[in-house]
Amino acid sequence: MKDLTSPFYISENIRKSGFFFKKNLGQNFLKESSVARKIVDSLDLTGEECVLEIGPGFGALTGFLCGMAGKVIAVEIDHFAAGVLREALEDEANLEIVEQDALKTDLLSLLYGREESYGAYKAVSNLPYNITSPLIMRLLDIRPRLSSIVLMVQREVADRLAAPAGGKDYSSFTAQVRFLAECEKLFDVSKNSFMPVPGVDSAVMRLTPRETPPVSVKSETMMAEMIKASFSMRRKTLANCLSSYFRVDRGTASDLIVSAGIAPSARGETLDLADFARLADAFHDAGIKR
Ligand code: SAM
Repeated sequence: MKDLTSPFYISENIRKSGFFFKKNLGQNFLKESSVARKIVDSLDLTGEECVLEIGPGFGALTGFLCGMAGKVIAVEIDHFAAGVLREALEDEANLEIVEQDALKTDLLSLLYGREESYGAYKAVSNLPYNITSPLIMRLLDIRPRLSSIVLMVQREVADRLAAPAGGKDYSSFTAQVRFLAECEKLFDVSKNSFMPVPGVDSAVMRLTPRETPPVSVKSETMMAEMIKASFSMRRKTLANCLSSYFRVDRGTASDLIVSAGIAPSARGETLDLADFARLADAFHDAGIKR
């Protein structure tokens, strides 16, 4: 199992390859092997799995993954980082490096457009922080195929994902993600574990995609719209948010909200998933669309 976290390895490769850290790609590389190992251990690998890694960088996680998974597909946007990784792990027959933008690549066909099949499919990433939300949603888009997703995120994002309804950290993103997956904060990681040192601390989360949603809804699309709509204007009442988002008059919105057992003067951030589900069904039954 290779440890590709040492500051010496990182500095040497920067010198040799012409690589430089790009802030816009969220390039803060992990330089503590114990943390990298703990992240990979959180995937509970048996050696049979195919693991999709987003943003392998110089391979802090990838080295461990190659020794512990059946197959590793690593998607890296940075050509220089991919070159360093290819050279460092050239002996690993189970590694495939895909030089692409993970926000644009068809992730599902990367996993399934191949002849071999694996016991389970899992994903892992020390996420580039500037694209955390869209990447999480992309991974959740392929959730029926993934049994586990382990992610390093900014600590603030971890707190948001674990936040209870009504709290200051609860957001539309929290509700959307929790509808699709169980979210568990595993451990904190100090900003000093990275090179270069970022401005904030991090935390590792496990998202376990749900086989069935925690609340049943007639339309998952309407559920997603309803969550977005309810948080669309944070200081406004639910009636105002929904009438403006769905372009219906305030009276119609209020009647539908009441029919879902909720006060039109409530605020979106106080609603839990069951509330959003009743609201989504009420608007769906009334034939309302965005
Ligand atoms: N996994 C490495 C580690 O733990 O040291 C690097 C993590 S660094 C926080 C994020 C990595 O994601 C960088 O290598 C960066 O180039 C890559 N990256 C950024 N945006 C990406 C994208 N859209 N698609 C694929 N990789 C991306």
